[in-house]
Amino acid sequence: MLKLEKLNKSFNGHRVLDSISTTFPEHETTVILGPSGSGKSTLLRSLNLLERPESGLYRFDDELFDFAKGFSTKEVLKIRRKTEMVFQDYNLFPHLTVLKNITEGPIQVLHEKSDPAKKRAQELLKKVGLGDKAAVYPNQLSGGQAQRVAIARSLAMKPEYVLLDEPTSALDPELELEVLKVLRQLAQEKQSLIIVTHNMAFAREVAERVLFIENGHVLFDGSNQDFFNTKNKRIVDFISAMT
Ligand code: ATP
Ligand code: MG
Repeated sequence: MLKLEKLNKSFNGHRVLDSISTTFPEHETTVILGPSGSGKSTLLRSLNLLERPESGLYRFDDELFDFAKGFSTKEVLKIRRKTEMVFQDYNLFPHLTVLKNITEGPIQVLHEKSDPAKKRAQELLKKVGLGDKAAVYPNQLSGGQAQRVAIARSLAMKPEYVLLDEPTSALDPELELEVLKVLRQLAQEKQSLIIVTHNMAFAREVAERVLFIENGHVLFDGSNQDFFNTKNKRIVDFISAMT
């Protein structure tokens, strides 16, 4: 379980996350929604320690950390292993084949042996529908294929949570569908997912929990059903503007 308490983050004196408290349950899909600039990416990046809020508590299972006190290098590595980030623009290594993109982390970081790492990479490629792409380089992939490789690469690290920041926003609708299909399958398999998205239909279909933030504040934190049936005017307006 991943839990935040009273998280505060400012950029240049401007508060972008204001006392955010929430829990991301394991084996569930949480979707983070909110207008542009509301702090969604900053919040997601804070979970992976790519951003460092000035204050707030960070609980991961039985361990409690305090952003005000900071994190040791060992703690950062530990948390990053448990929370793999998938970026909007894939961030694949251009000079490595698809297979090597996936095996690099398990071999270098998790110290897995080459053969089992390759075997697992092949299985993951199959899972994301790219069993025939192991030997190609990222520049030979479509955007949707590249994003699916990035997802396979994150899964190869066996994280507890996969964090995705607008994983399909760089893709044409047709390619987006391929990626959403993979995420839907992961959600069904009870992989813990935290997804920032603007795709309301997808959020509605896949999210168990919804976190809605605006101006760095939590406006809604609850079940999918409660979110999409809310009477809160601000949220009703947001949903209708986005669909
Ligand atoms: P979008 O939907 O457009 O991606 P978002 O909800 O992800 O928006 P954030 O990227 O978290 O929003 O940004 C929240 C606020 O923090 C914005 O006002 C943004 O300009 C500011 N911000 C984000 N990163 C930085 C940074 N590195 N330096 C300064 N300001 C930043
Ligand atoms: Mg963002």
